[in-house]
Amino acid sequence: AKQQGRNNFQYYLAPEKTEAQIERFAMEAMLRKALEKDELLVYYQPRINTKSERVVCVEALVRWQHPSLGVIPPKDFIPLAEETGLIVQLGEQVLRKACVQIKQWQDAGMEDLSVSVNLSPLQFRQQHLPGVIGRILRQAGLLPQYLELEITESAAMQNVNRNILMLRELKEMGVKISIDDFGTGYSSLSYLKKFPIDALKVDRSFISGIHEDPDDAAIVNAIIVLAKTLKLKVTAEGVETEEQYIYLQQHKCDEAQGYLFGKPMPPETFEEWYKLNMTEKDLILSPEY
Ligand code: C2E
Ligand code: MG
Ligand code: MG
Ligand code: MG
Repeated sequence: AKQQGRNNFQYYLAPEKTEAQIERFAMEAMLRKALEKDELLVYYQPRINTKSERVVCVEALVRWQHPSLGVIPPKDFIPLAEETGLIVQLGEQVLRKACVQIKQWQDAGMEDLSVSVNLSPLQFRQQHLPGVIGRILRQAGLLPQYLELEITESAAMQNVNRNILMLRELKEMGVKISIDDFGTGYSSLSYLKKFPIDALKVDRSFISGIHEDPDDAAIVNAIIVLAKTLKLKVTAEGVETEEQYIYLQQHKCDEAQGYLFGKPMPPETFEEWYKLNMTEKDLILSPEY
């Protein structure tokens, strides 16, 4: 009876489950094809040094240019790519494209421009990641110090001892490491001391509240002070208003990134943005980009 009950249960759930599975398989197949057909684009969002007001780095952010659906944002396919393992291949494509692009921009006169690339937890668990990154850098002709890898707190906290070794290996290569969305994940501060990292990126949820919520302002200040004490660089994410930017400048946050300066943009648009903003004396705040 138990056996039969289980079968009945499965049968009862079957139609719904199948539909979801078909959709998932279809999506997975589409994504696989997108990787083969090179439908992934990398957009770039400027990161501004708050002191010099120059763009020092761009964050590489993936987009899927689907032939009929148009541009699909990462939230609609990164989770599936993670679940299916396709993220490893996807991440390598993004790394390769980003390194080649930055080298090209450096050669064209944007001399000290760096790039930061998001690493998924699964990529970060690949034993041979340093080798892969080394090869991509060599092929692109990009010096390692111009590449920053963004990892999340949760990725860093899985298997801490192994991660320390991995981070050390990357660091010895000369690559920079930052903790993305800082403040939203597993908050164990002791690992900041143990991990050989270079920078913290304050999550945009705290930045948006700087002028509305005294708690957010207090958290942002505390993170900036913490970063300074540990000799880490600190970047604010999601800066949307001039008020927020001035506040961050006054509190000595090293870098700011957000729609106030520019949205993530395709390479050609970033070149226009750069010409407009970086050849002028003052930084033009141009949220229309
Ligand atoms: P993230 O790494 O925290 O990237 C910042 C996200 O915040 C980007 O969203 C960016 O467009 C958005 N953003 C930047 N400034 C502002 C602002 O002023 N206001 C608001 N409301 N949003 C802002 P996007 O491009 O949709 O990417 C979302 C997430 O997808 C990223 O968050 C990252 O976790 C993931 N992702 C993107 N590209 C890749 C990739 O190549 N590999 C991996 N593993 N993950 C990626
Ligand atoms: Mg990021
Ligand atoms: Mg982030
Ligand atoms: Mg974020």
